[in-house]
Amino acid sequence: MTKGCVYLVGAGPGDPELLTVKALRLIKEAEVVVFDRLISQEIQDLIPNGATRIFAGKTPGRHPLRQEEINDLLLRLARSGRRVVRLKGGDPFVFGRGGEEAEHLARHRAPFEVVPGVTAAAGCSAYAGIPLTHRGLANTVRFITGHGKDDTDIDHDWPALVAADCTLVVYMGLGTLERIAASLIAAGMPADTPAAAIENGTTPAQRQEIGTIADLPGRVRTCRLAPPTLIVIGKVVSLADALAWFHPVTEGTCTEAHVAA
Ligand code: SAH
Repeated sequence: MTKGCVYLVGAGPGDPELLTVKALRLIKEAEVVVFDRLISQEIQDLIPNGATRIFAGKTPGRHPLRQEEINDLLLRLARSGRRVVRLKGGDPFVFGRGGEEAEHLARHRAPFEVVPGVTAAAGCSAYAGIPLTHRGLANTVRFITGHGKDDTDIDHDWPALVAADCTLVVYMGLGTLERIAASLIAAGMPADTPAAAIENGTTPAQRQEIGTIADLPGRVRTCRLAPPTLIVIGKVVSLADALAWFHPVTEGTCTEAHVAA
């Protein structure tokens, strides 16, 4: 690990065993770790005792540190000659603003490296038993955000997103799920297209709801799913039952619990 270099490190979706060998080594060698809200406690516990921890997390609608402040902080830390790890949930270059941080460092000629991580789409779908592609069900995957630029309205070309053999993965889509579902159906997606919402994927607190694009918003409301939740839409979701292998402590869908009660 080089002093004065900022390592933009993906921490994966939560399960500490999904850290890469490289991510684990860099965390253990770090002098400063700047991390986000999505970094699980178990992963935070791997940060050495002597290292400085800086929380740069964002909560929806509230930004404790603005992105420009994080960019400047990383630059200052790099210039102070310390071993800096910028730890991000999932993969730093997938809806993680890692690109913006790298741009800032590059612009100011500060050395940086990027360490990919298991992105939520890969991690959560694997732990939910949903292959993102599957012969005969999906030959394309698209990752989209449920948030627009500057957290404003989402603005997608909805008809372009509706394709029979495509799996759609929506990041940050919990708050706008109703609108996303309505827009997809209006653009021609069959209302009975299977859809899943996975909360706290890959952790012992994982909960998931499986339904259709038409009824998922209602299910998610009933179960009060909270962020971080990933939405997966497409025929591949129909495999979730048959391929279920991960049995967290909170096992069982909330809807089943309601029916049983
Ligand atoms: N860079 C991250 C994504 C950051 S955007 C990555 O590559 O995974 C944050 C969104 O990611 C959340 O709103 C949620 O949709 C999704 N997400 C991240 N971790 C998750 C998890 N453990 N369970 C469910 N969704 C998750």
